[in-house]
Amino acid sequence: MANKKVNKKDITGLLKEWGQQFAVFAPSRESGVAAMAEWDGKDTSFLDWYRNTVVPPKASFLPPMEEMFRFQKGKEGYNIAPPPKAERSQLLFDVRPCDARAMAILDMTFEQALEDPYYLSKRKSAILVGLGCTNPCESCFCTSMGVSPAESADVDLMLIDIGDDFLVEEVTAKGKELISKTSGLKEATKEDEAKAKQARKASYDKVTRKLDTGGIKDKLLASFDDEEFWEKVAAKCISCGICTLLCPTCYCFDINDELVKQEGTRFRSWDSCGFPNYTKMPMENPRQEKWRRVRQKVCHKYEFYPMTFNVIACTGCGRCIRLCPVNWDITQVIESVPARTEAKK
Ligand code: SF4
Ligand code: SF4
Repeated sequence: MANKKVNKKDITGLLKEWGQQFAVFAPSRESGVAAMAEWDGKDTSFLDWYRNTVVPPKASFLPPMEEMFRFQKGKEGYNIAPPPKAERSQLLFDVRPCDARAMAILDMTFEQALEDPYYLSKRKSAILVGLGCTNPCESCFCTSMGVSPAESADVDLMLIDIGDDFLVEEVTAKGKELISKTSGLKEATKEDEAKAKQARKASYDKVTRKLDTGGIKDKLLASFDDEEFWEKVAAKCISCGICTLLCPTCYCFDINDELVKQEGTRFRSWDSCGFPNYTKMPMENPRQEKWRRVRQKVCHKYEFYPMTFNVIACTGCGRCIRLCPVNWDITQVIESVPARTEAKK
């Protein structure tokens, strides 16, 4: 079936139409930091400035802080009330392919490893509309991680910039259904398809940072106990946690109760394995030394996740490189892991 297209001037109308059915989220800088925020019904200036959000769109399904339930002490124990349900499903507009891939990776933990009702209730009902990158950052290395900056199988609809229009690809049945109910779209022509093909290639070629991940799982396994190597890797890290909190595939959270007299609320909030006090509430942090925590971050993505799910839990979005205050660079770390055949003790 032929793809559709939408004129850039008609994006406001398109989002308004989708907004009748969904809570539409789009890139915003309202708080000073680019993040997906509920669309205000008029501003589409993000189409000019948007490269990627600082806060990854995982926040839509695993919010930085989330109410799990409320409780009240009664005569015969505690009464538990679930949190209020969101009235409408979310439509995330302009998700980058790297972040869409990250959410598919997160699904493995929140759906396959265990079924997390908080995450899944939001994720399953959401629509992801992707937007191809035309201006990747210097820190991006998505093409080395199996992601193409202007193509995605992890969204429901994919938009490609073809000049005055966006080509609209129907990727999933959910996306197809939405398009069948959407007005104002035109059929894409052969020339539009040719422009989209060119745009995909141009975007791909703009990602110049490369990373060779060949054999990385085994290299990390063999270097796991090499304290000297990990000390060096961790030397300049200040344990601020930014690279994990804002990584689209990281999902650690902490759980806290807020109690006032007989009533309270249980929350979960983002946490980081990079923090010295991580897991200190239920027990001691088994990773007292910084190098052990940095090793955990790297190995979780490039060794443990591949062992469990057969996929590296890094999409090359480059956030951890762009946002690190001391220029710690995961690509340099991965490249520096020694090629050994046996573990070094
Ligand atoms: S962002 Fe940089 S300094 Fe902060 S925890 Fe990550 S590597 Fe360390
Ligand atoms: S490890 Fe860094 S580059 Fe990889 S997905 Fe996380 S933030 Fe992006």
